[in-house]
Amino acid sequence: MEETTSRNFIEKIIDEDLKAGVCGHVITRFPPEPNGYLHIGHAKSILLNYGLASEYGGQFNLRFDDTNPTKEKSEFVDSIKEDVKWLGADYRDTTLYASDYFDKMYDCAVTLIKKGKAYVSDLSPDEIKEYRGTLTSPGKDDPAINRSMEENLSLFEDMKNGMFKDGEKVLRARIDMASPNINMRDPVIYRVAHMSHHNTGDKWCIYPMYDFAHPIEDAIEGITHSICTLEFEDHRPLYDWVLIECGFKDDKNGVPKQIEFAKLYLENVVTGKRYIKKLVEDGVVDGWDDPRLVSVAGLRRRGFTPSSIKKFVEISGISKANSTADYAALEYCIREDLKVSAPRMMAILDPVRLIIDNYPEARTENLSVPNNQENPDLGSRSVLFSRELYIEREDFMEVRPPKYFRLYPGNEVRLMNAYFVTCTSFEKDDSGKVTVIHCTYDPDTYGGDSPDGRKVKGTIHWVDASSCGDVSVHLFENLIDEEKGVYNEDGSLNLNPNSLKIIKDAKVEAALIASAPYDRFQFVRNGYFCVDSRLSKEGSPVFNRIVSMKSSYKLPTA
Ligand code: ATP
Ligand code: MG
Repeated sequence: MEETTSRNFIEKIIDEDLKAGVCGHVITRFPPEPNGYLHIGHAKSILLNYGLASEYGGQFNLRFDDTNPTKEKSEFVDSIKEDVKWLGADYRDTTLYASDYFDKMYDCAVTLIKKGKAYVSDLSPDEIKEYRGTLTSPGKDDPAINRSMEENLSLFEDMKNGMFKDGEKVLRARIDMASPNINMRDPVIYRVAHMSHHNTGDKWCIYPMYDFAHPIEDAIEGITHSICTLEFEDHRPLYDWVLIECGFKDDKNGVPKQIEFAKLYLENVVTGKRYIKKLVEDGVVDGWDDPRLVSVAGLRRRGFTPSSIKKFVEISGISKANSTADYAALEYCIREDLKVSAPRMMAILDPVRLIIDNYPEARTENLSVPNNQENPDLGSRSVLFSRELYIEREDFMEVRPPKYFRLYPGNEVRLMNAYFVTCTSFEKDDSGKVTVIHCTYDPDTYGGDSPDGRKVKGTIHWVDASSCGDVSVHLFENLIDEEKGVYNEDGSLNLNPNSLKIIKDAKVEAALIASAPYDRFQFVRNGYFCVDSRLSKEGSPVFNRIVSMKSSYKLPTA
C-alpha cells in the first residue's frame, strides 16, 4: 500500500478513530532513546508526529525513552532537544522521561502478578532463549510458571530491593509459550540491573523492558496514536496485551493505538545511529555534527534548513513498504528553498589573476548588483570593480576546446554585472601553470551589454583582487564510495577517501567577509554555501558547500 498523495494511511486511521469516537482528540509523541544524536530518519518521525498533532489540533510530546541506563548520556538529551526544536516541532519545552514513570510501571507489574499474569523466573538469559522455541517450534513452559502469587510478589520485591545479581531473576509476563508470535511467549518485562540511571540515580536496580514500558508510558501521557517503525509490527499484540491487562484500555481497538510505518533509508548514505556513532568514535568524521553526516546536527551545520528537510520528508511519503529515498531529493529540496531566499554572491574557488590592461590603474568603480534576480525583495549591493580581478582557473583555456565559450586568447566574454573583456595574452610560471591572464575591456559595455548589439556566448564571474577576502571553503562528496556500496562483507563501511576537500585560498567578494554562522548564499555557478558554525571566526568565515548548482533530479509525479 503506497500512500504518498492526499491522506496517508495514518491520517485515515485517525480520521476513522475520531469519527467512531475511539478518541476525541489526538496526542502523538516522539520517543528517542538518548544514546546518540538524531538523524534524518528521526527527523521524519518527528515531523510526522508533530505534523499530525498540529493537523488535528492536538498535542505532541517529546519523551526520552531512558529505560536502558547503560548507554544514556545527558549530552544526547541536550542535542535531541535542540534538534527537535530546530526542526520546528513544538514540545512546549516540556521534557518527559520514561523514567518519570518507573513507580507506576512497578505498580503495573505488581498488578499483573496479582492477576496471575506475571511470574518471577530463575532461568538465565541463555535458558530463556532456549525455552522460547523457534519460528517453527513452540516454546517450553518456564519451570517457575506455576509459582504462587505470594511467592512471586515477594521475589519481585526482593528483586527491587537488590537481593539478586544482574541476570539472576527476571519477571516474565504469562501469556502463551505456544503462541505463533515469539514476542508473546512469556516475554521478560523486568530485569535486574545494578546500574546508575541519569535521572533516577541508584533508586532502582530493576528496569522495565521496552515492550512493557512503552505502552505504559503512552497510556500515562494519554497518547492516542503511538507511531513507530515497521520492526515493531510483531510487537503490537504485546503492546495491546500490556495495556489491556494493566487496565489502560478495554480492547485492542482502543487508544493508545500503535501504528507502524516504514523507516526512511537513503541510498548509499549511512543513517543508522550505530554506524554514525562508529564514524564519530573512529575519528572518520569530526563529531556528530560533521557536515558529511545526515545527523540532524550535521545537516544543520552543512546548511540545510528545517523547511528543506520538511519538504524532503513530504516527498518521501509515509508508507508501510520499505524503500530507499534518493539523497538527490534532499539536495533538490534545499536548492528549491535557497533559490529565491539566498543572496547570489561571487566567490572564486580556484583563483587565477586577470588584469585589464586598458583599465586605468588608479580607478575603482562600485557596481550595483542585485542580490537575487528572482527576488527583488533582497535588494542590491555594491561590488567593487578594478583593474585586477580573480576569475576561476577553469574559465580560461590556452587552447580552446570544442564548444568552449569562456576565455581563451582572442575571445570576448562578459564579466558578470560588469563589462565585456577580450583576452589578449597570458603568463605562465616555470611549471607551465597560468599565473596571469591579460585582457582589454570595452567601456561601452558597462552593466554587461553592448550598445552595438554584439553578443558574447560566455559569462564568467569574478572578484576584485584588492578588496576580496581569502577564505576556506569545504567541498563534500558522499562519505561512502558509491561504486562499492555502503558495507563491505565484514560489515565495515566503504569509505570514500575524497569526501572532504578543503580549499584554503578561495577569494570572495568583500561583502562575504562579515558573514555570520549559518548565513547561506548562492556562490554563482559554484553552488549553495553556508557559514560553518564551528570553524568560522569573526572576519574569517569558513564556507561549507551545501549542494552544487546542477541536478538531474526530477520530482516524482504524484
Ligand atoms: P537507529 O535505527 O538509527 O539506531 P533507533 O530506532 O534506535 O535509531 P530511537 O531513538 O530508538 O532510535 O528512535 C526514536 C524514534 O525514531 C522511534 O520511534 C523510531 O521508530 C524512529 N526512527 C528511528 N529511525 C528511523 C528512520 N530511519 N525512519 C523513521 N523513523 C525512525
Ligand atoms: Mg533504538
